[in-house]
Amino acid sequence: MVSSLLSLFLLGSPALAAEPSKPMAKSPDASRAEAARLVSAFLGDTPLMSDLQSLVDEVGGRATGSPANLRSVDWALARFHEAGVEARKEAFQMPGLWLERSASATVRGTGVSYSPRIAAMPFSTSTPKGGLTASLLDAGKGTERDFKALGEKAKGAFLLVDTAELKDVDGLFREYAESAEIEQRAFAAGAAGVVYMGSRPHNLLYRHNVSVGLRNTRPMMVMERDGALRAQRLLRTGKTLTLTAEIDLQTGPAYESYNVIGEIRGGTRPDEVVVIGAHLDSWDLGTGALDNGANVVALIDLARQMKRLGIKPARTLRFALWNGEEQGMYGSAGYVQAHEAELDKHVMASSFDIGCGRINGFFTGGRPELPPLVERALEPVKGLGPFTQVDVPIVGTDNFDFMLHGVPNLVANQEPALYGPNYHARSDELDKCDPQQLRLNTAIAAALAYGFAQMDAKLPRHSRAQVEELVRTTDLGQQMKSSMLEDWTSGKRGRKGNATAGPETH
Ligand SMILES: [Zn+2]
Repeated sequence: MVSSLLSLFLLGSPALAAEPSKPMAKSPDASRAEAARLVSAFLGDTPLMSDLQSLVDEVGGRATGSPANLRSVDWALARFHEAGVEARKEAFQMPGLWLERSASATVRGTGVSYSPRIAAMPFSTSTPKGGLTASLLDAGKGTERDFKALGEKAKGAFLLVDTAELKDVDGLFREYAESAEIEQRAFAAGAAGVVYMGSRPHNLLYRHNVSVGLRNTRPMMVMERDGALRAQRLLRTGKTLTLTAEIDLQTGPAYESYNVIGEIRGGTRPDEVVVIGAHLDSWDLGTGALDNGANVVALIDLARQMKRLGIKPARTLRFALWNGEEQGMYGSAGYVQAHEAELDKHVMASSFDIGCGRINGFFTGGRPELPPLVERALEPVKGLGPFTQVDVPIVGTDNFDFMLHGVPNLVANQEPALYGPNYHARSDELDKCDPQQLRLNTAIAAALAYGFAQMDAKLPRHSRAQVEELVRTTDLGQQMKSSMLEDWTSGKRGRKGNATAGPETH
């Protein structure tokens, strides 16, 4: 009330009438008070959990390209609009359609026949009607030595790969890194396909991308753990087995999908943008509560509460609900392409994608100037800390293309809670998310977003040469795996520039 009366009074003043459209910047004290008001909003009556329930139970699993995914786009737009937040959908290209219709398998040997459940791995090929039958071989853990032992026999066979039971997020990273190598060996050996023993307890099925993405040419699958262990035991006692896998897919060429972008325009620096993002799509076996519905509803509620409290940040805040993340971060890649001309004015792009566990800091992408700014932004929620920033680049979520374009980027580092075992699994459902922690995480996201929207500091965007240096001097190149590294070096993804340039000279 006081500030609006004051601005009415000031508008009448001839000295200030020359610039009537430029609102006054807030004092540091006023910003602090506003941040405090904002972060406390998430402890009160908010529809955070009913939104999450609606997204996961009503819309459901929402793989990009599916009707449920299109419903989720409308759902998110409606949530923003109901809150009075300006929002739009922005189209981008998905490189190809991949959805599983059904997948089944039968293991057979003399006197043995059983049908363990399987899930096709994203980018698996389909099989002929009636299935593809090939011998099933024990490929151990798929190491170099295991493949040597298999020798020529691997050719044309389904290779059963042993996995350790997955306990946590570290196990997940290991799983991804190992599978890329295993698949390289299996493809080189001419295998008919790879059958991973499910790494999750209780025979949980989950989706795990084939490491070469759309370029894959084989049926690839995860088999429920007990069924795979049984096959492995039979093979290890000398039984000869075959596997018939029947995978029915809906596939297609490149198509258009949509990000949903909510926006609160900045009051004094509207052309400068802070992106706070979470991906809207999920895999389809479960309903995507941890990955990543929880963070989607957090960002929607953050926009809603800012609007409700009448908070107008200095910079423009974009609440980006990305699509096509699971297939290779295509929504955020599409955004940086479409908004390339604006990227110099992108102050920071953040990504929230590790479920409902406590946010204990941020990955700051290998930019030592960034952690102090994050700490400053988190001041209003320091009681929810301690927060530790980890200054390494992270591949695997929607900060990636911002990073390749030199934009300061953050990924919320969250305690694993129930994330690992339920990742991309049938069990990623509402009950896995702790509502109280989600509220606290939303307050943390709010402080971060508001802090970066208000602070005077602005880090410059990195040049192509500086990004190249980051790739060279960290494990970024290794994390990127073959396909993304190729996209970067060929210029398909990332900031343009002379690929062989030395350090920046200007
Ligand atoms: Zn995710």
